[in-house]
Order: sequence, then C-alpha cells, then structure tokens
Amino acid sequence: MTSKKKIATVWLAGCSGCHMSLLDIDERLLDVVALADIVKSPVVDGKNLPEVDVTLVEGAVSSEEHVTELKHIREKSKFVVAFGDCAVTANVASLRNLVGTEVALKKAYVELPSNVPGKLPPGGGGVSPLLSRVTPLHEVIKVDYYIPGCPPDADRIFDILLALLTDKTPDLSNERKASYG
Ligand code: SF4
Repeated sequence: MTSKKKIATVWLAGCSGCHMSLLDIDERLLDVVALADIVKSPVVDGKNLPEVDVTLVEGAVSSEEHVTELKHIREKSKFVVAFGDCAVTANVASLRNLVGTEVALKKAYVELPSNVPGKLPPGGGGVSPLLSRVTPLHEVIKVDYYIPGCPPDADRIFDILLALLTDKTPDLSNERKASYG
C-alpha cells in the first residue's frame, strides 16, 4: 500500500472565499483525506511547513511576512498551486496598488471607524510591513499550477487535487470551469 500524501492550504492576502469553495467539494473531502493528510491550513497553527506534496495558496502577496512564508512554502512543496484569482493575478487585493500603501493605511486606520480612531497603530500594530506593491504569487516564486476563479469552481479544485494526489497531470482544458471572476 502506498503511503498517504500530504497537503497544505495557506491563506495570504485573500478573503477566505477560495477556502470556502474548497469546502464546497462537500463529501468528496472524504476522497481527498483518504489519499492525503491535510498537515496545514488556516485553522491549523504552525509556523513551519513539513515537506508536502501539494500546497494550495489563496491570496496575493501583500506583506514582507507573505514573501518569507511563500519562499518557505516553495522550498517544502513538490507542487505549489496558485489558488484563486488573488493568487493568480493579485485581483482585488491589488486595488491598493492604485492608490499606494500610505493612502490605503490612512484610509483604513485614520479615516474609517476603528478602536483607536484617528491614528496609525503604534509600531505598525504588530502587522508585518506592507510591500509597496501587491503581487500575484508567480512574481515571487515559481508556481506549478493555477486555479483561476473568484472563487474557483469546486469541481475544478477537486479535479486538480485528485489528479495531483494520484500522480496524474491535471487536465486544465475545461474552459467553463477555468474562467476568471
Ligand atoms: Fe476571495 Fe476571490 Fe480572492 Fe478567492 S480570489 S481570496 S474568493 S477575492
């Protein structure tokens, strides 16, 4: 009997909608966990990723912490999958690029209602320094597969996962399931 594979799922600058779509594969999650252990996900704490076969990365790259995490993921993962439009193109997360980091921070922390109104949080409020530009994953690391969609189609997520977990090349030809947005 072959040993089970390992999967990780990671959430960078995204809204978690892609992970919701992953849950939309419903009972087929049982097929996935029969083939692989989910060793890391947004609900499993842990800074270091073990060696894994597949990592699904939701969200764009927005902060210095994301860059560090993404490089670690690349080192540890056989296949890195850009999971959803934010990971593939930077999508809505990159709207910050239109106005710049300073304007976005001022809008979020100074102009909108907040617990500490009227000023930026001291020392960055524990938030990792933001990059001057939000980018898709492939501008930082090599990406093996892309699953577009905002969020991606659940059937397509399952098809690609199943292929990767059974040592097949994913069929990316189904355009209906591969649409953006
Ligand atoms: Fe959310 Fe869409 Fe981005 Fe996924 S691609 S994280 S659903 S905004």
